[in-house]
Order: sequence, then structure tokens, then C-alpha cells
Amino acid sequence: MRSGKPRLIRQLNDRSVFEAIEEMGLSSRAQLSRVTGGSAPTMAKAVRRLRQLGLLDEVGLSSPDGAGRPGRMFRVAKVSSQVIGIAIDYRYCRVTPAGLDGGYNHENIITIKTPADYRSLLRDLTKAVRKLTADGPKTLAMGVSVPGMIDKSDGRVLLSPNMHCLDGQCVGVDLETETGIKAYVLHETLASCLAEQSYGLAKKLEHLVLISVMEGYACSAVVAGQLLEGHDGMAGEMGHIPVDLNGAQCGCGNRGCIETMATDQSLARRVGERLGRRIEVEEMADMVSAGQIDIRQDINETLAYLAIGVASAVNTFNPELVLVASRMFDFLPGAFDDLINQVRQRSVRPLVNRCRIIRSAGDKVQGGVAAALRGLKNSLGPTMNWR
Ligand SMILES: [Zn+2]
Repeated sequence: MRSGKPRLIRQLNDRSVFEAIEEMGLSSRAQLSRVTGGSAPTMAKAVRRLRQLGLLDEVGLSSPDGAGRPGRMFRVAKVSSQVIGIAIDYRYCRVTPAGLDGGYNHENIITIKTPADYRSLLRDLTKAVRKLTADGPKTLAMGVSVPGMIDKSDGRVLLSPNMHCLDGQCVGVDLETETGIKAYVLHETLASCLAEQSYGLAKKLEHLVLISVMEGYACSAVVAGQLLEGHDGMAGEMGHIPVDLNGAQCGCGNRGCIETMATDQSLARRVGERLGRRIEVEEMADMVSAGQIDIRQDINETLAYLAIGVASAVNTFNPELVLVASRMFDFLPGAFDDLINQVRQRSVRPLVNRCRIIRSAGDKVQGGVAAALRGLKNSLGPTMNWR
């Protein structure tokens, strides 16, 4: 019991100092002491531990106040260490190295055509991770964005509506076994939302919702600064709310879910029905940009359902910001403004009047990176409001 408390205090200190450096950027120990209220020896110990764990880069000397002895400066590691972000998706998977500031270079992303079976998927992802970790900075963790519900207790995928080869698999544990690198797995929606709040357009906002309809229908929320995970880490399956009782079959087993009506895939299905053949989003995009098809009517139908989804999220979560990711806005000029107008009509007025709605790039690999960094920070200790 007596050894327990000092350990907790040390953990709280380490995490607070790391989060302070994350927020301040380049920092000296003296600055950190001032900001977090920690004593100089406490700060020195915390910085030393974080250095030993590979979480900080030391970047020269500086005397930021122009007074006193120049002190060593630190920032979150971008050179000495890295994390790996992985986005598993049903058509393509992407794997990227990233700094501990969440930044990554698009040129370094490895893209893999998603294999049909789990063994091949594991093999291809392992190969990519090995390639990115063979030399260079030390790899501290991997984060995996998974298109499915994950059991928090053992990391098992319980259901992946659009990628059933993942059902029942412990993809994080398996990747960890293959590569020897700690893996943190998160539902893709939660991961993307976390990424927007940690490193993206919604940085540090307390109440936000992300809706991505680029692959399936994903909706997730940050409430009071915390990612809303639910009891089992599965919150945010708003895509499976039925909006058409006799609608198309959905991957979840039901019919007429909003996922079957309001997504980029639903748009492709509508266009395909009109053309009398199956068409993928990519091909549809090419045909639109070549001026070969007019899909205005199909987009309007799809947006009408998306507006119901966005309005439901506004009404449910009372967010200050909603981010929406879809390729539909690229296909038709003015489509995003149309969506906003429809959302305003369908939401409860006082709620929507105070809510901004903007586009998100819906970058899932950033979600993988965010999952890795959250896992790393949680491994330091519990968070504490040091401000
Ligand atoms: Zn469904």
C-alpha cells in the first residue's frame, strides 16, 4: 500500500508533463515547472523518465526568457521515436509512420489492397510494419483503426459489418505477436474522432461529432472533452438506425439502415441501379469528372438521408462542431451547402443555431496514429487537469 501512492503520483506527473510539452511545443524544464506547478527536482525526474521511454526529443539549449543559465529544450519525439498508424478498410489498408506529435508524411504511407481473408491481411500488414520499422527511429507503439465493433476486454472484433473476415479476430494481439510492437486497437469511428480532436480541425474542442460516410456510416462524439466510447467501447453505431423499414439489406443484418441510404456507397448503388450495372465509387468519380454521367438527382436523394443523420447527431449530442466526411461534396458544387441547409431544417433550431458544420477529410490513417498515441499516453498514467 505504501509503495502504491508514490507510484500513482509519479504516473500523474509523467503524464502531466508529457501533455504540457505536447501543448507548449518546445519547452524547458523551468517553463514546465512554471506551467504545471511542479518543483524543479520533480520536473527533472519526470523529464528524465520521459526521455528514457523515448517520448521526448532534446533539441539544443535555449534561454527563452533571456535571463539565467540556458536550459535544455525538449519536445515530443519526432526524430528519436515514432509510432505506426494503421487503417484497416475493406478496400484498401494504409500503414504510416508518425511522430509523437501525430504528424506524418503522406509520401511514407504504404497502401495495401485489402485481401479477402484474415491470414493474408495479417501477413500484408505485418510486412508493411516491418518495412517501416526496419531501421530509423525506435517504434514505441502501433494504433489500428478497425471498421468494426471491438470488445474492450480482449480487443476482439465482435462484428465488422463490411469486412466479416475480421469477425472474432484479435487483430491487435495478432499484429503484436508478429511484430513485437505494442498495438492499440480502436473502432475506426472513435479513432477518427479522436484524431480530429487531438490533431485535426477540432483540436481541443470539448463537444464535437464526426460523421463519415466514405465507407459505411460512421458517427462518433466527443462529449465534455472525452471520447464517448460507451460501456463496451462500441458507442456510435448511428449508421444502423433504420430509416426505411423495407429498404435494402444492410451488412448488420437489418434492412433500410441509414448506412444503406446516406453514404457514398449508397450513392454508387443508386447510380448503379440507374445504369443497370454495379458501379464502384472510384469509377463513378471518374465518370463524373469526365462529364459522362449526371448524378445530381442521386446525390440529392442521398443527401436528404445524410441530413437526417447529421440532424439526429446535432439533436442528440448538442455539439459545437460537426465534421462531415463524404466524397459527394466533390461530385456536385454546392452539395455541402445544400446539406447544411437541410440539416438546419431538420434539427431543433436552438441547437443547430449554435453549431458549426464543416467538412472533414476523413483520414482514417490519422485515426490509427491517434489510437497509438492515446495508448502510449494511457500507459504513462491517468490524465489529470494540470492547467
Ligand atoms: Zn445496419
